[in-house]
Amino acid sequence: MRAKAGVPERVGRAGVPVWRILGRNPGPMTGPGTNSYLIGEKRLCLVDPGPKDKVQLRNFLDAIGGRELACILATHTHGDHSPGAAALQAATGAELVGLPAPAQGHNDATFQPARQWRHGDLLDCGEYGIRMLHTPGHVSNHFCYLLCEEQMLFTGDHVLEGTTSVILPPDGNMSDYLASLEALLEIPLRYLAPGHGGIIDKPHEEIRKLIRHRMYRESKVERGLATSGGGVLTELVAAVYDDVDSAMHGWACRTMLAHLEKLEREGRARRAGGRWLPV
Ligand SMILES: [Zn+2]
Repeated sequence: MRAKAGVPERVGRAGVPVWRILGRNPGPMTGPGTNSYLIGEKRLCLVDPGPKDKVQLRNFLDAIGGRELACILATHTHGDHSPGAAALQAATGAELVGLPAPAQGHNDATFQPARQWRHGDLLDCGEYGIRMLHTPGHVSNHFCYLLCEEQMLFTGDHVLEGTTSVILPPDGNMSDYLASLEALLEIPLRYLAPGHGGIIDKPHEEIRKLIRHRMYRESKVERGLATSGGGVLTELVAAVYDDVDSAMHGWACRTMLAHLEKLEREGRARRAGGRWLPV
């Protein structure tokens, strides 16, 4: 059954309660909309408040009721994830958790945590704990959050359901992205709770599938360079993303650039002027 925007829907199993509250922002890049997650019974946390939206803010406050919202966590500072944090913080006094916007790329500069959060930090909320995992790749300031008791990982745009993440150079980085995926294979996980799409209940299988997909795309990029003798991004994208709707090729160019930069770092591609060339 499709979730209805703004209406809390319980996810995961009985234990620490987690509610998904779907945003009112469906679209080609957001799928059904941004997922916000409300965690806990007494001291609550909310992951990814989504865009600035007065109606959704009301929905959050209704779901929180008279309870304490301890923290607002942002996986990263894209416009569909963090801009709702400021108004929710003003209404609740909750602490902001996450990393501020990087200098490059389109980011929400209003997200300003009071302290510097680090990989491995643990939020102790009494009835549950949340471990912070720095997962750069999609963008450099991306965190995933692990609800330890449930082995549920809130993945933001690092892992999505039903689609693959766009990697956005210069701030996004394909080598980092793959390393961040590999690192998740070391952690016992029961569920992935993505920023867009439904709950994933075979986490490691899904992560391995994503890594395979990226390696498949990388080999297509390398083959595309070899057979064409090289070219500019818009020439290469048609060959490398021949299995993707051409309406998405503008975005595909960004991720393909991330692949090319990785190949360049590894000495497997080079660029001259605006053209990418095989080695
Ligand atoms: Zn994003």
